[in-house]
Amino acid sequence: MIIERAEVIVTSPNRNFVTLRLQTDEGHVGLGDATLNGRELSVVSYLKDHVVPLLIGKDAHRIEDTWQFLYRSAYWRRGPVTMAAIGAVDMALWDIKGKAAGMPVYQLLGGASRTGLMAYGHASGVDLQALFDSIREHRELGYRSVRVQTGVPGLKAIYGIAAQSVIDGGLERYDHEPARRGAYPAEEDWDTRSYLHHLPTVFEAVRSEFGPDLPLLHDGHHRMTPIQAAKLGKSLEPYDLFWLEDCTPAENQDALRLVRQHTTTPLAIGEIFNTVWDFQTLISEQLIDYVRAASTHFGGISPLKKVMDFAAQYQIKSGCHGPTDISPVGFAAQLHVGLAIHNFGIQEYMQHGERTNATFQQSMTFENGLLHPGDNPGLGVDLDVDEAGKYPYEQAYLPFNRLADGTVHDW
Ligand SMILES: [Mg+2]
Repeated sequence: MIIERAEVIVTSPNRNFVTLRLQTDEGHVGLGDATLNGRELSVVSYLKDHVVPLLIGKDAHRIEDTWQFLYRSAYWRRGPVTMAAIGAVDMALWDIKGKAAGMPVYQLLGGASRTGLMAYGHASGVDLQALFDSIREHRELGYRSVRVQTGVPGLKAIYGIAAQSVIDGGLERYDHEPARRGAYPAEEDWDTRSYLHHLPTVFEAVRSEFGPDLPLLHDGHHRMTPIQAAKLGKSLEPYDLFWLEDCTPAENQDALRLVRQHTTTPLAIGEIFNTVWDFQTLISEQLIDYVRAASTHFGGISPLKKVMDFAAQYQIKSGCHGPTDISPVGFAAQLHVGLAIHNFGIQEYMQHGERTNATFQQSMTFENGLLHPGDNPGLGVDLDVDEAGKYPYEQAYLPFNRLADGTVHDW
């Protein structure tokens, strides 16, 4: 089975998505997600200029060989642009193999280990009342666990709060598609000291309102130093978090040792990681509890399965990144992995907008808080090329942070 055609499709139904579409001589079509939020066109170029010409005429069945060829023959390894491009090829080839076999991809990965994947949604509010309303809304949508983000007194605009975002049919949503479109990154403000004082009071209020059973998550979004992260983890222990995410930047994996020594709050990290090497110390020294790698930014299904098998030896579970900038194709890819592996933990699930769902038709279901990729052969996602053509690329940047004195801070 030979790859005959390869095209890169850019569409922006609610936000930008980059999709690789492969077609074989037997008529099978495979899709791969290559969306790198805020830097989309760099992956388009990498694919069009350097990868697509290498794929034509290759055996579509040789997924591992193609991955190794693209990774090693470039000489320049790793990095988000390279790995998003390789990831798209990997996903598209798994999609094709599933269609050729007449099976959903999870069957090719070993079959289902569970009936569905527990998902968490993003509850948020500028104040407690708005946050409580948002938690109730999420529970009504079926979510059995929620991420909790709130405003911090004295800060005008911070990560993760719905009220500062656009309004979708009356519902305010954080990071709704499109996220912060424009010719320059939006500026937000930050003060770690205020945040560290405020956040435990929020979790105390949420626990007293909703009781001890609801799994609660929180994202620190890389803003703390290791000792600040340790302090926060310790101060949140009474509220029994499911996880504390990205408590400190983790380019330096050693930083997590210090956090770990001080707190039993479970830790999740890795949504911006690209390869297993970014997790090597974190996994082998059991410094985290959940792997946040996303199929799209981690080189596809093949390496995601491998890192989860590595993590399983250390009782570390999956918690794949699932914001709306992971396209329905990339999202489906990690649902297939999550269904198959034994060490599934939880799946982040921010729902895509209506135009995105009309452009990418999906077999995925979300019922009673559980996600399932469906049983269509392959990944279970079809791209309506005509629909995609209606929505050209729109420039979009992620926001950034400044402290009160003007210093640029991690966002
Ligand atoms: Mg995050």
